[in-house]
Amino acid sequence: MSDMEMQAPNTGKDISRLDPEKFKHPHITAKGEKRAFVDLETISTLWINTGSLCNIECANCYIESSPTNDAYAYFPLSECERYLSEIKDMGYETKEIAFTGGEPFMNKDIIPMLESALKLGYDVLVLTNAMQPMMRPQMQKGLLALAQEYRTKLTLRVSLDHYTQKLHDVERGPASFDHAIAGMRWLNDHHIQMHVAGRSCWNETEEEARNGYKQLFLKENFSIDAFNPSETVIFPEMDEKIDVPEITTKCWDILSKEASSMMCASSRMLVLQKGKAKAEVLPCTLLVYNDDFVMGESLKSASTCSQGNIVNGTVKLNHPHCAKFCVLGGASCSA
Ligand code: SF4
Ligand code: SF4
Repeated sequence: MSDMEMQAPNTGKDISRLDPEKFKHPHITAKGEKRAFVDLETISTLWINTGSLCNIECANCYIESSPTNDAYAYFPLSECERYLSEIKDMGYETKEIAFTGGEPFMNKDIIPMLESALKLGYDVLVLTNAMQPMMRPQMQKGLLALAQEYRTKLTLRVSLDHYTQKLHDVERGPASFDHAIAGMRWLNDHHIQMHVAGRSCWNETEEEARNGYKQLFLKENFSIDAFNPSETVIFPEMDEKIDVPEITTKCWDILSKEASSMMCASSRMLVLQKGKAKAEVLPCTLLVYNDDFVMGESLKSASTCSQGNIVNGTVKLNHPHCAKFCVLGGASCSA
């Protein structure tokens, strides 16, 4: 994920075609009810999108990454440092800085960016496919140096869509499983903390999936707990074509859900749009390529932003992903 293993969002355009009246007005649903919203409580995880380019092109990449999609440019160290400095000044109780892509190890600044965050004491998570970009000598050297100094603070979450070569390669292309396993063996051999992200789109129960990963981890001697959801994250499939209800302010009680449990209550993601000088803030990792969710060029401006689906820093849940993957499906990309 990045391996956030979810289907291409396209800002909900497929679903909008199914019901063009839904997800239009920031405040009101198609039925005239008050649209649900989420206030930011704190930023416990700050996500950085390192760029949308990827060395491969998966069948269902949520951010449509590929070797040619550079809609999100490589995130530079200078912008990373600007936001790390700002997040301290803003006084958020931030625990984790998480890096996603595209493939983060294609960004030449990735190692210095990881180091900047680690030096400040944050837990650091990197979502990677563990393939060739991570295995380049320069990246290996950088990772080894970081692991030596910050071993318990650095985690790489490797996308392994399925525990079998056959199904993983269906999503990611021939030989991708073997390359990912080679990367995982290297991480394991060097005691670099490693988690796994899989998908639940194979007509099997979660227990079957976790048992499958368990067997693989045992065979490979990987110290990953297949039954610990934070070590082996299994993401729900994001089927864009299924129509979803809009979420109203009444839904929280009806569904017994708290707005504060949504990712956008405790996270923000930074992206650098191609051609722009400054990185911008988005509410979460799920809503990409959508100007109506852009919150400004700093965390401070994001906290008071009013434009599109953002009102005074509050996020209006005016996107099918909000309904399907967060409120109804419980998807979260955070470790
Ligand atoms: S490996 Fe690349 S193309 Fe595949 S899901 Fe991750 S970012 Fe998308
Ligand atoms: S997709 Fe989920 S996390 Fe993102 S803004 Fe919507 S409800 Fe919040």
